Amino acid sequence: MQRVHTAASLIDAQLAADLLTSLGIPNHIFNVNAAGAIGEVPFINAQPEIWVADDAQAARAREILAGVADTHCDDERNCPHCKEPNPAHFLTCWHCGSALPD
Ligand SMILES: [Zn+2]
Repeated sequence: MQRVHTAASLIDAQLAADLLTSLGIPNHIFNVNAAGAIGEVPFINAQPEIWVADDAQAARAREILAGVADTHCDDERNCPHCKEPNPAHFLTCWHCGSALPD
């Protein structure tokens, strides 16, 4: 059994788990109930984690989930002022407030 992904939220974890399941990779989500403890325990200990039961499928699972993450990055652009990545539909930088170019 290997951890293949640490999700930012329970929704992300569920989407990742559903994707792996649909591709025939059995998996489990851990820390489902830990999100309520954020603020009381170190953040990284409370994030949902995807674990794959079969070690032989772990590499394939990481590949699949990395591909999903790459797709999200295509919809980002970096702020010309502070270089922070912003979602493509943002008009101003979330970080410094500078106007983003079209
Ligand atoms: Zn900025």
